Amino acid sequence: MDNRPSWDQYFLNIVDAVSLRASCDRGKSGCVIVKNKRILATGYVGSPSGFKNCYEAGHLLREVIYENGEKKQHCMRTIHAEQNAIVNSARFGIALDGATLYCTMTPCYVCTMMIIASGIIQVIAKNKYHASDDSIALFKEAGVQLIVLDDTELY
Ligand SMILES: [Zn+2]
Ligand SMILES: [Zn+2]
Repeated sequence: MDNRPSWDQYFLNIVDAVSLRASCDRGKSGCVIVKNKRILATGYVGSPSGFKNCYEAGHLLREVIYENGEKKQHCMRTIHAEQNAIVNSARFGIALDGATLYCTMTPCYVCTMMIIASGIIQVIAKNKYHASDDSIALFKEAGVQLIVLDDTELY
């Protein structure tokens, strides 16, 4: 019997494995960018290569105001998983045009803009992020398909 995972589940399992390397526990996320069922890039939330991470230097907390007006402490030490996957692609000269991005939760607003600008056409997130209305609207405006598999909010 063929009980192998679906392609989506296969890549999301890899997202989980990648996220284990996250160096900030305030939002352990991972990302895999795929085209034609091949992995182009991976990324996890972490400091830029060569810089101290949150385990070594502690979080770098700053107050931010979310789209819903909520003020929260946000860790500024890290590059988000989606951003790391995109910059890793830039580093190695990999075009992301037409690719699909798998990630732990609905991308934040900055990641959403970068995803759109990089030419990615589909985003599949495992879970919902608590403040994601602006990202959802932006993906829609750009014609990028966003699929959030589980409505349970992460972080
Ligand atoms: Zn941190
Ligand atoms: Zn982000």
